[in-house]
Amino acid sequence: MIEDKNPQRTSISQLGEFGLIDHLTQQFEMAQPSTLKGIGDDAAVLDFKDKKVVVSTDLLVEGVHFDLAYMPLKHLGYKSVVVNVSDICAMNAKPTQITVSIAVSNRFPLEALEELFAGIALAAKEYGVDVIGGDTTSSQKGLLISITALGEADADELVYRNGAKANDLIVVTGDIGAAYMGLQVLEREKQVFQVNPNSQPDLDAYTYLIERQLKPEARKDVRTMLHALEIKPTGMIDISDGLSSEVIHLCKQSNTGCNIFEDKLPLDPQLIATCEEFNIDATTVAINGGEDYELLFTIGMDDFDKIKGNPNFTVIGHMTDPAEGIHLVTRAHTKIALKARGWNALNKE
Ligand code: ADP
Ligand code: MG
Repeated sequence: MIEDKNPQRTSISQLGEFGLIDHLTQQFEMAQPSTLKGIGDDAAVLDFKDKKVVVSTDLLVEGVHFDLAYMPLKHLGYKSVVVNVSDICAMNAKPTQITVSIAVSNRFPLEALEELFAGIALAAKEYGVDVIGGDTTSSQKGLLISITALGEADADELVYRNGAKANDLIVVTGDIGAAYMGLQVLEREKQVFQVNPNSQPDLDAYTYLIERQLKPEARKDVRTMLHALEIKPTGMIDISDGLSSEVIHLCKQSNTGCNIFEDKLPLDPQLIATCEEFNIDATTVAINGGEDYELLFTIGMDDFDKIKGNPNFTVIGHMTDPAEGIHLVTRAHTKIALKARGWNALNKE
């Protein structure tokens, strides 16, 4: 569907491993004071002084986590960084460095890897993280990307999944469900394209949804906003696998139950319209669709006044005693047990 209009195809074997690494990594500059040594030695050297360090890794596999039929490589590079930075943000820490490891088959020309790394460099700049190392190797089939992100925080700033208490308010940033519907739109266009390669997709009605799927952003700003509002969440998690799955993680680890209210879920108008067109229930998408990379956190009731009316935050429910269970309260006031139907790489047929 997204055609590579660049006719130049330089074989990566022409450069050799070290030539390729140099070529791809020369654009990375070190800006974090905690980076003493970046790319170029056997290991990077970091100095976090009296800060705590948080570390998180993700592995993305072609055909499982992304489809290059509609994912431009530059977007893929950007998104690979975002999903990792999001995990650091979900600890209420500041992202500082990443390492980037790739395994790539010789079907990819140098120009394709340049695109991938242009996206990685753009995201690294946007989020202020130094690219301090990685590994480059070959694969028999397809592309694999593994990114490790590091971040820093004072010990008392860190927010874990296990700190929520009964009666705490459950808050979500931004809106949810759009990335999943963006994927549905792209999948539909891919099918149309396979039948008729000359079709020109008209995607104007879905721009927000597609952007949420192809160019998600991590909520690095939330740490700053919460700090300014003098709020420390009691528990926090990022929404990568879908709201219900993440709420259940928070409840299980905090030993609470919860009520989430259907009529409070923050949905973009484009999501609602597209769900109607696809004949899918928008609530189902909002609670089960993943990849929005928003943050879900809990705060004490005393902090409610500090976020009331703030367009960045929506209170969608509250924690309860564990015996009350984990529920969605529908518009008709019936209680439905929440199930983790979120996207799960290991369960995909
Ligand atoms: P080693 O032999 O120790 O594995 P390499 O030759 O693989 O070292 O890597 C040389 C330098 O380039 C190291 O600093 C490594 O971290 C960095 N590097 C290798 N591949 C990547 C990559 N894909 N992205 C960023 N840095 C990389
Ligand atoms: Mg190596």
